Amino acid sequence: MLKKERLRIETRLVQAGVGRDTLTGAISLPIHPSATYRHPAVGQSTGYDYTRSGNPTREALEELLADMEGGSRGLAFASGMAALTTLFLYFSSGDHLILSEDLYGGTYRVLDQIFLRFQLTTSYVDTSDLNAVNNAITPATKAVLVETPGNPLLGIADIRAIARLCKQHRLLFIVDNTFLTPLLQRPIELGADIVIHSATKYLGGHNDLCAGALVTADKKLGDELYFLQNSTGPILPPQDCWLLVRSLKTLALRLERQCQSAQQIAEWLDLQPQVQTVYFPGLPTHPGHQLIQEQATGFGAMLSFRVDSHQRARQILERIKIISFAESLGGVESLLTLPAIQTHGDIPASERERLGICESLLRLSVGCEDVNDLIADLRQALNG
Ligand SMILES: *Cc1c(COP(=O)(O)O)cnc(C)c1O
Repeated sequence: MLKKERLRIETRLVQAGVGRDTLTGAISLPIHPSATYRHPAVGQSTGYDYTRSGNPTREALEELLADMEGGSRGLAFASGMAALTTLFLYFSSGDHLILSEDLYGGTYRVLDQIFLRFQLTTSYVDTSDLNAVNNAITPATKAVLVETPGNPLLGIADIRAIARLCKQHRLLFIVDNTFLTPLLQRPIELGADIVIHSATKYLGGHNDLCAGALVTADKKLGDELYFLQNSTGPILPPQDCWLLVRSLKTLALRLERQCQSAQQIAEWLDLQPQVQTVYFPGLPTHPGHQLIQEQATGFGAMLSFRVDSHQRARQILERIKIISFAESLGGVESLLTLPAIQTHGDIPASERERLGICESLLRLSVGCEDVNDLIADLRQALNG
């Protein structure tokens, strides 16, 4: 007999939900919309009491999320920001967090404009520089949160080295694994305590779902985060849990195509005279090219590029036909973003400038279309 744990993750994903419904043998995971559950008798429970606290469809998804990341508990949220907000509620007034400066703008916004009011303080550092992380540690520091590859400049942080540093200083180590997914990068195996996802992106993969996830290495920490989730209520509804499980079945197929095309597009962009710099860890000139190969099995399908003027960037956004000018990433449809005014619009202008997130920087999420069509679209948009 093939043992389930011995099957490859790609197989476990495709098989997710199969056999879960013993009553009918349904291949597709059943959706349980019930808000509440009948008790067999006083003091007894079927294991389900009220859907905010537990739901069979959500449970199937949460087990799958934990399995994918190699963690002990997974939690499904209404969005990536709901997952991050719940995670930040774990900390107390006076605590200090260290985060990547190359960070999703919404994470910056919730910390800077909401949690700062509750005296949760932060430092943003270049997490691809271990010394910078080390130097930011204060007696109040409780955790380090990195995005690797970073957003939108695709900087690479050394997950193993930061995990060691965090162990030394007894800090929680959190990795936002949205850009690579556990099929390409498994932070818990490299020493992280918590993985967070915007499942709206690659895990959902079709630009038709908003969801988030937390996975913990440790069961007790997972239970503490579950307490926060159950207390505050930002759960993913059962219909969306089903849709996410359904979407995860094709994650491996989608990613394979997306990564291949991204590599090809990055190499092509690098040769274009109107393009000044291409930020893609799969290019040998990228500063994190070596490191990412030591901690991930692929370069992902996100890339950014700087063109020769703000006007050129606008021209490209106006002229693209197949690729859509839209925020978000990770879906089968290719999307092009202007981070300075979209995803990173809430980061102060001076800070954006210092990081190099100006209006000639474009971020491309490579989808599943034929790569020749994508390159043709970019060519006609660049040439104007
Ligand atoms: C989109 C995103 C988030 C926020 O997730 P939502 O699902 O939009 O709430 C967090 N981190 C990263 C890296 C993201 O790309």
